[in-house]
This record gives sequence, structure tokens and C-alpha cells, in this order.
Amino acid sequence: MKGRILRSLGGAAALALVMAGAPLLAQGNGPTDADLMNDAASTGDVLTYGMGPQAQRFSPLKQIDAANVAKLVPAFAASLGGEKQRGQEAQPIVYDGTIYVTGSYSRLFAFDARTGEEKWQYDARLPDAIMPCCDVVNRGAAIYGDKIIFATLDARVVALNRETGKVVWNKQIADYKEGYSATAAPIIVKGMVITGNSGGEFGVVGAVEARDVNTGELIWRRPVIEGHMGTLKGKDNGVTGKTNATWQGDLWKTGGGATWLGGTYDPETNLLFFGTGNPAPWNSHLRPGDNLYTSSTLAIDPDTGVIKWHYQTTPHDGWDFDGVNEFIPFDATINGKPMKLGAKADRNGYFYVLDRTNGKFISASKFVMQTSWADGINPKTGRPNYIEAGRPPAPGAEKGQPVFASPSFLGGKNWMPMAYSKDTGLFYVPSNDWGMDIWNEPIAYKKGAAYLGAGFTIKPIAEDHIGALRAMDPKTGKIMWEYKNKAPLWGGVLTTGGNLVFTGTPEGYLKAFDAKTGQELWKFQTGSGVIGSPVTWEQDGEQYVAVMSGWGGAVPLWGGEVAKSFKDINQGGALWVFKLAR
Ligand code: CA
Ligand code: CA
Repeated sequence: MKGRILRSLGGAAALALVMAGAPLLAQGNGPTDADLMNDAASTGDVLTYGMGPQAQRFSPLKQIDAANVAKLVPAFAASLGGEKQRGQEAQPIVYDGTIYVTGSYSRLFAFDARTGEEKWQYDARLPDAIMPCCDVVNRGAAIYGDKIIFATLDARVVALNRETGKVVWNKQIADYKEGYSATAAPIIVKGMVITGNSGGEFGVVGAVEARDVNTGELIWRRPVIEGHMGTLKGKDNGVTGKTNATWQGDLWKTGGGATWLGGTYDPETNLLFFGTGNPAPWNSHLRPGDNLYTSSTLAIDPDTGVIKWHYQTTPHDGWDFDGVNEFIPFDATINGKPMKLGAKADRNGYFYVLDRTNGKFISASKFVMQTSWADGINPKTGRPNYIEAGRPPAPGAEKGQPVFASPSFLGGKNWMPMAYSKDTGLFYVPSNDWGMDIWNEPIAYKKGAAYLGAGFTIKPIAEDHIGALRAMDPKTGKIMWEYKNKAPLWGGVLTTGGNLVFTGTPEGYLKAFDAKTGQELWKFQTGSGVIGSPVTWEQDGEQYVAVMSGWGGAVPLWGGEVAKSFKDINQGGALWVFKLAR
């Protein structure tokens, strides 16, 4: 009885707060939907992958600025330990005195945000037969209420109690034996955990799923290849696209399009934005047509899982130019008209700006040195002007003739997220200049086996660099400044109100640049390659910056000739946290 009275009193208090215009309080239970939507503005925490549902990776904090960043020093470092020192691509989550980071091999750690002491560690028990294509990475967790949630390499999503690290629920996204895996950070919208899947090199079918954050029960599922049926609350909810419109025969059944980088959410338009990966197999001669919705950006209704619009960056992709790159909502005035836009630096080497309300093409500009496969994007159709000699030809009975293609299949930009500064109006794009010899081969689909029908050798194309951090003006498509790096850049970017841009290098440095000029202002050697995404927050009146260090990811697995640029870099696994020296 007493409990009931207390609960009803609590309800009345919450109602009074709502009526007073205050945001809903978490009631001691942790972040709410409203907290997640407000993450970009709340400087005392980092609650979402991307530092806000729109994933702009911009913090208004300016205690650390271009004038004093040279005084940034370590507050502490925390090792992930074990023998699994490789591929730390995660972005930390910071909440209520705890830093949550995921580690390679599907591990999740909770560290004290003031001391770096470990509170708990969760190790997923992975089957031996998992098939991650591109290292054993994980990019981050999602937080909601009393839970911290992440995806695992055996294509599962796991919710843990954020205080204890104990499992609350654990659900399968897809069958790892067919080649599915999962590495992206989930996003949480309206009490739903939204995830994609990985495995585009195995002829899987990309999909986006929404689950009840409290139970893990499936709410809707949307396969992203035409012909496949979506579901909503256990019932059929319409076929994706139109069966056989852009795929011939049964090829859509193993069509790829893995949604392996997760998505962003725009509260203003109530749309989820997910990129989709390469069509399967890579050998494009085996699948005539545009192969929708591969290598595309999709806008999905989070309430139903229905696709509202699509924009395909590489129709009939023949180079593994996965279109998975993050689509970042932003607002700008174009030709005197204020517009709701979104930007994406695609693996194919072009930086796209679209009207995010309807997917309409606004502009596309090259952000890399070379695009050998297309001579620009047709502004009327939004389609690439293909250079036919740049497509690897059909093979005979064996290996086909190689062609040189740039960017390489690892892309003008791969998974590593760019950042958008509301102050400068610029996007900061971690990019790479490289090419490849690519050829086609015969291939037949076999469940659980690589389904490429292609081979490749990656090559540098410049004397002095592979990596390049580029500041792009989305209104003009111009590169305002660039920082060149010897080894390929593979880490995420952060920008702040202190006129700063932070990113890591494989050579082991976390670096800070002047956001307006690109001048390098500070660097710190972390002891291993930095391929994680930095974050910043305020705690006890001081601004902190954190990043994961630990070389790995796809580059050292597939590096070819470019491996010379990073052959002496050691592996690792540590969280580094910085603040200004007093
Ligand atoms: Ca926040
Ligand atoms: Ca791919």
C-alpha cells in the first residue's frame, strides 16, 4: 500500500514537472528518450554514438580552446587488458561518473570517470566460427535507463545492467553461420534499440531492426534489398522495393547491402538514416541492374520501419564502394533558402548533400585526389557519370583483366565518422587517397563462404601521404584545408566550440587542429594506433577529452602495398583521458 502511494506521488510530481515545461526526469533510473535527444546540448555527458542523435560530433564546450590546447595532459589511462590487444574503434559513452567503452572481441568495460578504475567488464562468449570480414572491432554502446547495450560479433545484441554489467537480455540479430556479424553502435529512438547487420562479403541480406529496449523483443524489421518482406509487430509489413525491378532472377535473395555502420536519427523529420553496403557479389557482371537498395542512403520511419526515401550513390557498384557512410543532418541556407539538409562523405570519393526531408540531390563534390570510376555526379539525375574503362571487365573461365581503380575498395572514407561544426559550418572528413588493381573472377553463392568474385591489390597514389583530414564547406563543396598523414587515417573526428578538431592517427597520436585553419596545435603519443572516435564532456567544472587507442581494423588485414606506411605500429587497447594542466 505504502509503495502504491509513493508511486502515485511520484507520478504527480512528474506530471507537475511536465506541466511546468521541464524535461522528463530520469527518476534516478538513468537516461531517458528526452535525454538522448538532447545529448548534443548537454555538456556533462556523452549519451549517444555521434554525441547527439544527428551524430554531428560537435560539442559547444570551449574551456579547452585553440589558445590553450597545448596544455592538454593525460588525466589517466585504462588498459583493456587480456591478450586481445587489437582494433579499438569504439567511441566512449560517459554518464554519471562512469565511462563505458566497448573493446575488440565484443567486450564492454565500465571505468570510473574520475580515476580510471575498472568497475566491471563483460566478455561476450563468442563461438569459434564467427566470420567478421574486417577485424574483431566494435564501435560503441548505447545507454538507456538502467541499461547499456551493444552488438556482438556473433550477430547478437546484448543489454547489460549498467551498474553491475549483468546481462538483462541477449537476442540474436541473424545467424553468424551464414556470415552475419555486428560491429556498429546501436542507436536508441523512442524506447527502441535500432541496429543494422554486417556480412556483405558473404551474400547476406542487409536489414534494419527495432527492438523494445526493455525486453529485446523485435518490433519491426526492414530488409534493405528489394523483394524481401518487412515486418511490424509480428505481421507482414510490405515488400521492400519492387521484386525484380533492379535485380534479375533470384539474385536479390543473396544481394548484400549490409547496414553495417548503423544509423543516425533526425528528430526534426522523424527519420532514421541508414547507409547500405555493397551488392553481392562484388563482380558486377553477375548481377545486371542498379541492385537497389545497395550502396545507398535510406530514410526509414522509426515508427513503422517503412522506407520513406532512398538515394543510391553507386548504382550497380563494381568496386565495393559500400554506401554505408554516416548521413549527418544539418541546416544551411542554399541560394537564399534555409534548408534541412544531410551530408555524407561516400566511400566512392564524393561528398553528397541531400535535402533530408525527401532525399533530393543538392550537390556532390570530390573530396579525394582521384575518382577513376566516375567523372563527377550528374546534377539532374544524381547518378555518377561512369567511366566505363574504370569498371573491372567480366572474367572468362578464370581471372579477368585487372583495372586500376581509385579510391580503393577501402574507400575515400571508410567507417570512421566525420564531424560537423555549427560554428565554422564545415564538415571535417577523415579521408584516404589510395587506389587498387581490381579484377573479377567467377563465383557461385555458397552459404557462409566469401561471395566476392573479385580480387584486388591496394596501392598508394601519393608520395607523401595516404590519410588526409579535410575540412569541407558543404555549401560550395570546396576543401577549405587539409592535413596529410603518412599512414591511412582510420579514426573518428570530434569538433568543439573551442575552435578545435580532434582526430587520431595510426602512428599513435591524438591530434588537435585549429577548426578554421587546420593548423596542428597539439599531439599526444598514446602508445598504439588511434582508430577510435574522441569525445569531450565537462565534469567537476573541467573539460575532458577521451579516446581509445589500439591499432587494428581493416587496414592491416587488407593493406597490400600500403602496409609499408604502418608496419612498425604496435597493437594495443587502452582508454586515454585528457584535461588541461593546472
Ligand atoms: Ca550530452
Ligand atoms: Ca563491403
